[in-house]
Amino acid sequence: MNDCIFCGIAEGAVPSKKIFEDDEIFAFHDIEPKAPVHFLVIPKRHIQNIMECGAGDGLLLGKLLLKARELACELGCGEGGARFVINCKADGGQTVDHLHIHVLGGRRLGWPPG
Ligand code: AMP
Ligand code: ZN
Repeated sequence: MNDCIFCGIAEGAVPSKKIFEDDEIFAFHDIEPKAPVHFLVIPKRHIQNIMECGAGDGLLLGKLLLKARELACELGCGEGGARFVINCKADGGQTVDHLHIHVLGGRRLGWPPG
C-alpha cells in the first residue's frame, strides 16, 4: 500500500463507513460531514486529481459521476437536490491528493464558496 489514505480506504486497510464498492469505484461517508448527507466517491485506482485525467479516463469519470448521482438519490437527495464537487489542488481546496467527488445534500447550501 502507498501512503495515500484514500487508497487505503479503497483497499479496506483503512476503516471507513462504506456506502458502495465495485471493481473500480468506492464510496464512503465523509469523516467530517459538512451537511446532513456528505459522502465521497473515488476511483480505486490512484489518480491525484482531475488535472491528471485525460481522454482515456472518460468512461471512469462518467461512471463516478453517475454513481454519485445514484447514491445521492438513494440517500434521499433526489427531491431536494445535492451538490457534486471536485476540489483540485491548492486553489481548489484539495486536501487529499486522490481524486474524489464530494456529494453534499440534506440542507440548502450557500453560493459562492468562500
Ligand atoms: P478535499 O478537501 O476536497 O480534498 O476533501 C477531502 C475530504 O476527505 C474532507 O472532506 C475530509 O473530511 C475527508 N476525509 C479525510 N480523511 C478521511 C477519512 N479517513 N475518511 C473519510 N473522509 C475523510
Ligand atoms: Zn490514492
